[in-house]
Amino acid sequence: MTKLTFCGAAGTVTGSCSHIESDHGNFVIDCGLFQGNKTTQSLNYGEFPFDASQAEFLILTHAHIDHSGLLPKLVKAGFKGTIYATPPTADLLEFMLRDSAYIQESNAERLNKKRRRKGQEEVEPIYTMPDAETALGLIEGVDYETWFTPKPGVKVRFWNAGHLLGSASAEVRIDDKASGKELSLLFSGDLGPEEKAFHPEPDAPAGHDYIICESTYGDRDRDDYTLEKRREAIKQELTRGLNRGGNVIIPAFAVERSQELLHDIGVLLNNNEIPDCDVYLDSPLARKATGVFIKYADQMQDIAMDEEQLFRHERFHIVQSVEESKAVNQIQKGAVIISASGMCNAGRIKHHLKANIYRKESTILFVGYQSPGTLGHIITGGAKQVRIHGTQFKVAAEIRRLGNYSAHADQGELLDWVVERGPIRGALFLNHGDDDARKVMREMLGNKGIDTSKIFTPSFDESFELTPGSQPISQGKPEPRIETTELETDWHNDYAVFMLDLSSKLDEVKDPKQRRALIARLATALKE
Ligand SMILES: [Zn+2]
Repeated sequence: MTKLTFCGAAGTVTGSCSHIESDHGNFVIDCGLFQGNKTTQSLNYGEFPFDASQAEFLILTHAHIDHSGLLPKLVKAGFKGTIYATPPTADLLEFMLRDSAYIQESNAERLNKKRRRKGQEEVEPIYTMPDAETALGLIEGVDYETWFTPKPGVKVRFWNAGHLLGSASAEVRIDDKASGKELSLLFSGDLGPEEKAFHPEPDAPAGHDYIICESTYGDRDRDDYTLEKRREAIKQELTRGLNRGGNVIIPAFAVERSQELLHDIGVLLNNNEIPDCDVYLDSPLARKATGVFIKYADQMQDIAMDEEQLFRHERFHIVQSVEESKAVNQIQKGAVIISASGMCNAGRIKHHLKANIYRKESTILFVGYQSPGTLGHIITGGAKQVRIHGTQFKVAAEIRRLGNYSAHADQGELLDWVVERGPIRGALFLNHGDDDARKVMREMLGNKGIDTSKIFTPSFDESFELTPGSQPISQGKPEPRIETTELETDWHNDYAVFMLDLSSKLDEVKDPKQRRALIARLATALKE
């Protein structure tokens, strides 16, 4: 008997983690950090819904933190097995897990400073650097399309998922004792679009008992674009931004997005297609990740320049120290500054925003998804004022968005991937997507001729009994660990919006008497 439990990314897009109990022991597919508002993040502090010390090995689809970021916590909770991943994923994790441990330690330290002042009990970081080091020591690299046997009775192979350097779908075969048959599972991991720089489109064999497919963009179809069209779009944006007479600030994910941008901007500079500019990459993690991309450059495709020049144009400045970063803050015009985090909720990008967002000649160019509740989401939502490091800033810069750097397959591409992987003998599970995306994707797959009674949208912590060739049997929906309605926005988000509104309202009302009257009305409301 095999039991599959969806421990994360069910009805949401972060915290990917599936737990499998089989005739041949227990194991885990991905172990991601929950990202989003404070309520979502609180899940990272709770216990795993399974006994980590009983899990014998782990299959990791790719290095993104929402798939790998709780590996050190798993180790802290007693996991001692091997972590299987592709070699580029293993190399990226060297930097990403250490970076994440550093963030966990500093978050806890910052919080504890506040808590000590208030006389409250201190909190422990979710995990520490030694936990990350232990996790890194458990990783074993396995190439694409190569069967490996983590344990007799279970075999696995990775397929290119076209989403990120080293990203994979995982095909898992388990000997089912009761039926004497082999149970075939395919975990999509995150799937890339057809047109993606550096990687071929996703691949995996057809015909499985169960497919577990991501549905991030299950309800969204993008305009078709080619890599050339995308380069044309960034050319237009950079030209427009630089001609305004200020800097162009690009918040970007450190891994892959930053390298895609460097590649495209390098090509544009070589062809003299954009105004003269200096390009600064200011993210320690992006700098280290770039080294991994250079290492695997011979396996990447669509590279439109010499390999020696890749990510190393003479106008590129890879910023290292904090002092260098501060010096970049002083530049008034003519600079393109790429910095992380991509959603502006942490990292050096906040300093670059502080130095540029209030100036009307600046441009802030967003090239990635902005999760609700993050500073990037607030800025792209059209806020006139924002709070950064406790200080309020006027948004005078031009805010621009470019949607075609996505690392995710859109609706049409997801549907094609599923259809091409059929026939599905048992069921299709849609995870890694919000409920609207999953609902729409289910309907669309129905239109494509897939029996919708075989399509399941699992809830948080829901378990299913799996048998070769049969429909899965749900073991019931457990009490969710958090109120799932809070995933999109929670009271912390409401509070932040309210405080900004209050502050702008007080700015608007110039008369001190009227200001006092406004505060009195709010005070009365508080007493209700
Ligand atoms: Zn991903």
